[in-house]
Amino acid sequence: MQRRNFLKKSGLTTVGVLAAPSLTSCKPEHKEDTAIQTTKQPTVICTWNFSNASAKAWEVLEAGGNALDAVEQGVMVEENDVNNQTVGVGGRPDRDGKVTLDACIMDKDANCGAVLALQNIANPIAVARKVMEKTPHVMLAGKGAEQFAIEEGFKKMNLLTEKSKQEWLKWKKTSNYETPINIENHDTIGLLALDGNGDFAGACTTSGMAYKMAGRVGDSPIIGAGLFVDNEIGAATATGVGEEVVRTVGSFLIVELMRQGKSPQEACEEGVKRIVAKNKGRKDFQIGFIAMNKAGETGGYCVHPGFTYRKFDPSGHENVPVESFYS
Ligand code: ASP
Repeated sequence: MQRRNFLKKSGLTTVGVLAAPSLTSCKPEHKEDTAIQTTKQPTVICTWNFSNASAKAWEVLEAGGNALDAVEQGVMVEENDVNNQTVGVGGRPDRDGKVTLDACIMDKDANCGAVLALQNIANPIAVARKVMEKTPHVMLAGKGAEQFAIEEGFKKMNLLTEKSKQEWLKWKKTSNYETPINIENHDTIGLLALDGNGDFAGACTTSGMAYKMAGRVGDSPIIGAGLFVDNEIGAATATGVGEEVVRTVGSFLIVELMRQGKSPQEACEEGVKRIVAKNKGRKDFQIGFIAMNKAGETGGYCVHPGFTYRKFDPSGHENVPVESFYS
């Protein structure tokens, strides 16, 4: 895109940084003569081409809203879409036919909340936000999460649509009850927003791996794995086979790589390369990372071709194709 123009127009400002980190500072370990660029131009990115979700988040930011509201309202669009079989209502069930949802949210002050294996509630991200704001905890799982949601006024509903039910019944006939690990079928939405105050928030929500074992939880609701936000540096989120992202604490790793001076693109590439290296030639899985830094620069990278991310900023919106480790 028009990235160069955007940078020119964007009101980027530069802030000086300390020469060396101190115990009380988590600022990047840049050298004395370098500086961090920051912007107060709103920017939204999300995994895959979830244009409705990113448009909603953008609408919130454009109206002067904050990043936290933007990410929550954005991903809820997908959670409520019955035709999206990877998130929220309509998500594919576990191998016993139960839809179990995972989500987490994180704000500029490192407040965070998550729900794991939540059943019967359509908007896990909103429950995750309530966990963050109304409890002394970060994560609630299973029945406890459901009970908390009901106490907070969420309504119980059947999340298994007829379409997802029929597909599961068909899968049962031929699958030998074995959870498929493959390079398709991973369309978690992770959404990152930088608002007009220059503050970050992120949200990540999924129905997880299709036909997973009962009780299986992936990376998406795990702070540091599926999502991480550090308001001094940037934010990152992941999609794909969660077990691989958890093993490398993927999103945290990417933010830390940005802290060390890598661009979001370079950081995502390094994150994917570490996962590929750990798998020693195994190629049957997909992972995609996206990231954004304080200057509003964005990046993405994945294991196999096919992953994209959606981006909204003051110069417009676009579906950004992402390069992959394997061709
Ligand atoms: N990351 C998700 C999980 O492992 C799957 C996905 O991205 O669709 O649960």
